[in-house]
Amino acid sequence: MPRKVLYNICLGCGGCIGVCPFLALNLDKGYEVVVDTETCTDCGTCTKFCPVGAIVEV
Ligand code: SF4
Ligand code: SF4
Repeated sequence: MPRKVLYNICLGCGGCIGVCPFLALNLDKGYEVVVDTETCTDCGTCTKFCPVGAIVEV
């Protein structure tokens, strides 16, 4: 299963976008991080990286 972002926790730092090896994380028009569920391989890199634990398994 892909990941999802907990927007009530996310700081909006954008760091996770740079660490995704599959380029599955992007900013939407409202500058929120969104997961491309078709591209996400559930590798877990973003979840390990996020300093506040805002990316979780769906
Ligand atoms: S690394 Fe975490 S806090 Fe930063 S933008 Fe990504 S989900 Fe939000
Ligand atoms: S789980 Fe892996 S592939 Fe999916 S968004 Fe996070 S870093 Fe990218």
